[in-house]
Amino acid sequence: MIGPDRASSRFVAHRIAPRRASLPGGDPVGAVPDGIDRPLPSWPFRCTNCGRRAADGPLPYCCPTCGGVFDLEPPIRFQPASAGPLDAGLARYRSMLPLPEEASLITLGEGGTPLVSATVDGRTLHFKCEHLNPTGSFKDRGSAVLLSALAAAGFLEAVEDSSGNAGASFAAYAARAGLRARVFVPENVSPRKRAQIAAYGAEVVEIPGPRSRAAETVREEASRGATCASHAWVPLGLAGIATLAFEIVEQLGQAPGAVVLPVGHGTLLLGIDRGFAAMREAGAIDRRPRLVAAQAAACAPLWAVHQAGGEALAWVREGPTRAEGIRILQPVRGDAVLAAIEASGGTVVAVDEPAIVEGEAELARLGFYLEPTSAVVWEALTATLPSLPDPVVAVLTGSGLKAEPAVEASRMGSQHA
Ligand SMILES: [Zn+2]
Repeated sequence: MIGPDRASSRFVAHRIAPRRASLPGGDPVGAVPDGIDRPLPSWPFRCTNCGRRAADGPLPYCCPTCGGVFDLEPPIRFQPASAGPLDAGLARYRSMLPLPEEASLITLGEGGTPLVSATVDGRTLHFKCEHLNPTGSFKDRGSAVLLSALAAAGFLEAVEDSSGNAGASFAAYAARAGLRARVFVPENVSPRKRAQIAAYGAEVVEIPGPRSRAAETVREEASRGATCASHAWVPLGLAGIATLAFEIVEQLGQAPGAVVLPVGHGTLLLGIDRGFAAMREAGAIDRRPRLVAAQAAACAPLWAVHQAGGEALAWVREGPTRAEGIRILQPVRGDAVLAAIEASGGTVVAVDEPAIVEGEAELARLGFYLEPTSAVVWEALTATLPSLPDPVVAVLTGSGLKAEPAVEASRMGSQHA
């Protein structure tokens, strides 16, 4: 039996409960020096493990009581009557985001991405072009909300861990908001993504070892008082990603029958699922789209548990893969992600390296130049398409312009294998 002080995730074995971040004067670390005149920021978070609400003050990346992961409380709501202009992108949904009313939206024009159709195996499929966001990935939707909240609360700096896309997005929106950003990346991060993070003015800290080590280091930084704005742990970004669901439905004119998407931590899948849930709640759609998650076979914890139960985690490894963006051994919200997939009637597909390379090529022939992480959707699509109800949407998550070409990557893989 799991007690109230123990986190119950099957996926995240070790948690570090943060000390309350404070300086000798009592000011929250990372908050503005004149914070005395500023009300303490409040966070619309509730612990998914023990049910406690987040306290006002420094940004908590996890529950300080039990180490559990926070979720948004209240959840995002879809309110079409209060939407902005159709062409405003994410800003169209500003009034629905979990931000203080007076907060400025830190925006680079994210969202409003095209939904492009193409014929595959005689079926018309719809590709949501999230790689066309300002920094080249869907992460910008979450970053807009996260950095808007941090800026409104008066934070001057924050840290994040990332395999590349989230770090680049975080760095861009931090620059836009005037925050100092420090981004922890694994040593085998794509050089192009590393360069992109640095170009926005963020400090890039390379952590030797696997991807999970960079994530651990950020949590250690948080325990020393840094503001840990992890896109995986802090739930604010989920609301930004929910707008992706709003757009898909508005562009299709109906709910999709199925959505196929890459899954690492699963913030994309959960955010979209939340968006569809909000639309069902509002009466805007009446069905729950089937969610098909694609993982790299080299590191596929969700696939393993979906196939064989929690015991299967024992043999999951963080193997080398071109799909570096979803190389996540311990998905922070793994239980919630699997619950969403199963409730939707969906499934998880594990994609091996040759199929990832093939997916890059096939999607490029349709005109989509994508990073390998995005290309996992191709195998997932072709494997499940006969059983998927129309209309089928695949989410294209990241641009190929910042990935390593296949030849260079195979050299990198052999160095780090
Ligand atoms: Zn808790």
